[in-house]
Amino acid sequence: MNEFNSFPPGWRKISEKEFAQSDFFRYGIGKTEYRQMMTENKSDPAIGATLYYIDADNGFSIVNNFWNGTIEFYAFGCDHDWSGDPREELEKRNIVLYGSEHASLCAKCGKLQIVDSSD
Ligand SMILES: [Zn+2]
Repeated sequence: MNEFNSFPPGWRKISEKEFAQSDFFRYGIGKTEYRQMMTENKSDPAIGATLYYIDADNGFSIVNNFWNGTIEFYAFGCDHDWSGDPREELEKRNIVLYGSEHASLCAKCGKLQIVDSSD
């Protein structure tokens, strides 16, 4: 199965609330890619969806069901665990936080995220 027909790593359904509070609305979309993804079960219909990448490996997708008139939200890539300690990474990159900024580190993939709570 080629990449066009397969799900990106970490493909998972997320709730509307998770999507509303996600990085999708925090960062610009890097690239988009259309795929027709098929499950192992050949009798399942392929899921046609655009992947919206927010960085090299992570992103989101919105899948519509035309006949039901519904949409579902998906994420892919690392299911970030922001419980890591960002201090060492901030030091390594020479990053100094401003008053209202808060840093988090993903304990799984090492991604550093800085959020300005005054936004
Ligand atoms: Zn991560």
